[in-house]
Amino acid sequence: MKIGIIGSGPSGLYLSIFLKIKHPESEVVVFEKESKLSKKLYATGNGHCNLLNKNLSKEKYNHPEFMGPILEKYPYPFLEGVLKSLGIELTYNGDYVYPLSESAPAYALYLKKLAEKVGVTFISETRVTDYVVKDSQIEAKTDKKTQTFDKLVIATGGKSDPKLGSDGSFYEVLKKHGYDFVESKPGLTPLTLNDKDIKPLAGVRHKANVKAFLGKDKIFEENGEILYKNDGISGIVIFNAESAIYRHSNPKDIELVVDLFPDWTFEELMNRLAHDEALNSKFYLDSYLVEPLQKHILARSRGTDALCIATSMKNLRYSVKDHYGFDYSQVTIGGLSLDEVDENLSSKKEKGVYLIGELLDVDGNCGGYNLAWSLLSAIIVFKSL
Ligand SMILES: Cc1cc2nc3c(=O)[nH]c(=O)nc-3n(C[C@H](O)[C@H](O)[C@H](O)COP(=O)(O)OP(=O)(O)OC[C@H]3O[C@@H](n4cnc5c(N)ncnc54)[C@H](O)[C@@H]3O)c2cc1C
Repeated sequence: MKIGIIGSGPSGLYLSIFLKIKHPESEVVVFEKESKLSKKLYATGNGHCNLLNKNLSKEKYNHPEFMGPILEKYPYPFLEGVLKSLGIELTYNGDYVYPLSESAPAYALYLKKLAEKVGVTFISETRVTDYVVKDSQIEAKTDKKTQTFDKLVIATGGKSDPKLGSDGSFYEVLKKHGYDFVESKPGLTPLTLNDKDIKPLAGVRHKANVKAFLGKDKIFEENGEILYKNDGISGIVIFNAESAIYRHSNPKDIELVVDLFPDWTFEELMNRLAHDEALNSKFYLDSYLVEPLQKHILARSRGTDALCIATSMKNLRYSVKDHYGFDYSQVTIGGLSLDEVDENLSSKKEKGVYLIGELLDVDGNCGGYNLAWSLLSAIIVFKSL
């Protein structure tokens, strides 16, 4: 059997290794338009590659009803076992799972070397421009020459961070083949805010509880570190809020409510403030917040007593203007409609064609959920081939 895979990102790379190990007699060819294989993988997890999450729950994805049965069949311990069977050792930070090296480049190189060792053929700097399904074979046309395969797996990724290879250009090829796409939007990005008074806070980080409201409805709540920017707000908790806000529509009038001291109740915070003010009235806030954030809180407080300051600290309200674009996005919301594939991620339209990874309309939260989907989708196709 000859199998072609378009895209050397983690989904294509994992699949190529699984297939070649199980079917050593098969030819497995991976096309990559860039000169560097798996370019995006090098940048993951801030250079550390957060490759899985121990708490792989379906609610962390845009389509829990789709992910539920997949995660029941292939739960976290199964995925860890798969990686360990490839000689991949792991380390943990809470639920976040990393390669033991904690190095995304080292992990990407390990997968590449493993693929080469088992006999995967890589054709880099070669863009697949189209394909033709003919009887039981598929011709992949490239900007160099045409190759014929028994099966073709499309793993061309989404549109996020296009300088790392995935620019969504293969969407257009698939649209010509009649595939439906769900509108794509940048996911896991910072948010821009309408509030001009955040400018002096650029660079300030703080632990917080963040809630997002659409009118009176709370649509998101999570704890995490926020990072103020010139024109907005960032941090993992904000990335997750952004995806939660924009996954299902383009809502306007979203309000963020930030509690800077979520570990204390309002009364506890107020009592601490009153106590500390009595001790050191001129500088007691220095033990709570960095100076720009103190000024921000005081400017937003109705008074300088503990009640007003505690209210401000636990209820910073920001009005969301928009999200950042694909250049700043870690995952694509939307993509190839899940109605186009069966439970094996095999095309319902074209025999012998499979679609995996971020190309599909699957996006997860920050924390290893998207690389987990790369692995899961590769396993699903591998099991059916
Ligand atoms: C900065 C950053 C950090 C991230 N960190 C994490 C993290 O720590 N944990 C996590 O879970 N997720 C993370 N992600 C998300 C994760 O990297 C992606 O979801 C994942 O890489 C998707 O894998 P994929 O194989 O589907 O697609 P991609 O990795 O996008 O790979 C697709 C490949 O296909 C190639 N290609 C496209 N079209 C063609 C064509 N026509 N011919 C030939 N080749 C083609 C592209 O060049 C690309 O190399 C991060 C993303 C970014 C941008």
